[in-house]
Amino acid sequence: MQPQDLYDVAVIGAGVVGAGIARELSKYELKTVLIEKEHDVGCGTSKANSALICTGFDAKPGTLEEKLVRENSRLFREDVAPALDIPFAEIGALLIARTDEEYAQVPKILELAKKNEVLDARAVDAGEMYRLEPHLAPGMKGAVLVPKESIACPFTAPLAYVTQAVVNGTKLMLGTEVTGMSRDAAPGAIAIETSRGTVHARYAVNAAGLFADKIDAMMGREDFRINPRKGEFFVYDKSALQKVSHILLQVPTPHTKGILISPTIFGNVILGPTADDHQDVYDTSTSREGLARIERMGRLLMPSLVDDGEITTTYAGNRSATQFSDYQIRFHGDRSYVTVGGIRSTGLSAALGIGRYVVDGLKDLGLVISAKKEFKLVRMPYLGEFEGRPEPGQMVCFCEKVSRREIEESLRSVVPATSLGGVKRRTRASMGRCQGFNCMPRIMQLVAAARGMSVKEYYEGGARTAQGQ
Ligand SMILES: Cc1cc2nc3c(=O)[nH]c(=O)nc-3n(C[C@H](O)[C@H](O)[C@H](O)COP(=O)(O)OP(=O)(O)OC[C@H]3O[C@@H](n4cnc5c(N)ncnc54)[C@H](O)[C@@H]3O)c2cc1C
Repeated sequence: MQPQDLYDVAVIGAGVVGAGIARELSKYELKTVLIEKEHDVGCGTSKANSALICTGFDAKPGTLEEKLVRENSRLFREDVAPALDIPFAEIGALLIARTDEEYAQVPKILELAKKNEVLDARAVDAGEMYRLEPHLAPGMKGAVLVPKESIACPFTAPLAYVTQAVVNGTKLMLGTEVTGMSRDAAPGAIAIETSRGTVHARYAVNAAGLFADKIDAMMGREDFRINPRKGEFFVYDKSALQKVSHILLQVPTPHTKGILISPTIFGNVILGPTADDHQDVYDTSTSREGLARIERMGRLLMPSLVDDGEITTTYAGNRSATQFSDYQIRFHGDRSYVTVGGIRSTGLSAALGIGRYVVDGLKDLGLVISAKKEFKLVRMPYLGEFEGRPEPGQMVCFCEKVSRREIEESLRSVVPATSLGGVKRRTRASMGRCQGFNCMPRIMQLVAAARGMSVKEYYEGGARTAQGQ
C-alpha cells in the first residue's frame, strides 16, 4: 500500500445514513471513500419507508434516537433540504383518538412532546379534527396536531447527500461489496477486503443497515443482532389526495403504534406499514395477509379511502431492528472503528444528525479534522408534487409527466442512474398509475444508449439491475 492509497475514513453503506455521514465528512480536509455493494445509492431500506421527517414528538426522552431526530428535524427543514432542493412538505400530523380511552391519552402525549421540545403540538377537539380531515370515519373523539411533522422524498435525500459529498471530494465506490476487514494486515490502517480489491483506511464506519451485524462480525464485534422487521404498504392513486391532507397516525396502544395514512411528496397516498419480525433480510415481498391487515386497520380510520381508493401499487421495506430499542452507535477506539446500527424507524429523519454525531465521535477517537475553505453546494432536480413540476418537454412518462430531457439528465448526473430503478428514483418515471407499462421500453432505450449498449445487450447483461436497483 502506497501512502497516497490510504483513506482517512471509509464509510460502508450508501443508504441515507451512510450518505449523511459521508456528506458531513466531506466538509473537512479528509480523504474519504464511500463503499456500496449495490450499483446505486439508497437502494436498501432507504428506498422503502414511510418517508416522514419526524419531529421526535413521541420519541423516548433521553435516548440517542430522540436527540438525533430532534437535531436533524430542524437542520433538514430549515437548512439542508431547502439548500439542496430535497422535496419536503410540512403538512403536519394528526394523532387520531378513536375512543374515549385513546382521547384520555392526549395530555400524556402532549407532555411527552413538550419534554422532547416539540412545543407547538396541541390537542384538537372532534369538531376541529373533522374540519381538518372531513373524510375520517365518524365517531372519533379528537386528536393531537403536530404541525411540523413533514413528508419528504426518500430517494432525493440520500442522492443529494452523496452528490454533495462527491462534489466535495469523496470517492464513491458502487457495486463494491465489503467481504472482510482486518486491523493487523496493514500497519496503522484497516484493510477492507471488497469484491473489487482491498481498500485501506485509518478509520472505518459501518453504516450497512440490515447487514451491520455482518460487518461488525468482520471486525470481531457482536454488539447486536439485526432482526428484520417488515413494513408493507399500499400506494393509492393521486385522486386519493383529495381525501387526506395531513399525516394521520393512531394513538399508540400497549400492543401497537398502529398504521398511518399519509400523502406522499409525489401526490399519492400511502396506507401502512405492518411491523412483522421475520428472518430474511432480502425478503421485501408484500403478502395477502399483511395487506389485508393494514386494509382492516385503515378502514377504521378512513373507510372511504380503503373502499373507494384506487391502488397504484404495494411495496415493503425491512427495518433494521435489533434486541435494543435505541440506536446502536458505538465507537471502538481500539479498532478505529464505528458501528452505526439499529437505525430502525427514523433513519431518514436522523441521517444528518447521525452524520454530525459520528464525525464528533471520530474526532474523539483521534481523527484530526480541519474544515474546508469551501463546502460546495449542489441542487437536485425537484421531484415533489407540492411546489410544481418542471415544464415538461418531450414526454416519456405520461403518468408522472417526466420528459426525455429529465431522464437524460439523470443518466449523466454526478451520481448517474445506470438502471430503470435509478431513473425512477431520480425522475419519478414509471412510478405512476401504469407502473411503467407504457414508458418502460422507451426508458430502457435511453438507459441502454447512455451505457453504450443496445437494449438487448442491456437487458441480457443488466437483468439483475433492470428493475430493483
Ligand atoms: C416500513 C418502514 C417505514 C419507515 N418509515 C420511516 C419514516 O417515515 N421516517 C424515517 O425517518 N425513517 C423511516 N424508516 C426507517 C428508515 O427507512 C431507515 O432508518 C433508513 O433507511 C436506514 O438507512 P441505512 O442507511 O441505515 O440503511 P440502508 O438504506 O439499508 O443502507 C445500508 C446500505 O449498506 C449497503 N451494504 C450492506 N452490506 C454491505 C457490504 N457488505 N458492502 C457494501 N455495502 C453494503 C446496502 O446495500 C445498503 O445500501 C422506515 C423503515 C421502514 C422499513
